[in-house]
Amino acid sequence: MHEISVLQKAVDLAENTARENGIEKITYLTLEVGELSGYLPVFFYKYYPIVIEKRPIFEGSELHIITVAGEALCKDCEAMYNVARNEGACPKCGSRNKTILSGQEFLLKEIGY
Ligand SMILES: [Zn+2]
Repeated sequence: MHEISVLQKAVDLAENTARENGIEKITYLTLEVGELSGYLPVFFYKYYPIVIEKRPIFEGSELHIITVAGEALCKDCEAMYNVARNEGACPKCGSRNKTILSGQEFLLKEIGY
């Protein structure tokens, strides 16, 4: 359920940005969501119509989501790997000692109008 509150914030930000720029109609929003952010895109799609309800500027708009892969660098053998696909452990040496390179982001990437 925490998706609904961050989505609300993204929609608020988009609405304020649009108003400041004299935009009267938003046609789509693009969010960038990292695999390791803890947010599930399926919930954003589900809550979007609820969040934009009673906000005429968003009427008929669509939500787009770009998923960013969760990549890590192993601190022990320096292999690069996908965290989710390897359940958090390095596929080369088995170590969980890692530096996260990407996949933790949650961003309002684009406002379409
Ligand atoms: Zn390793």
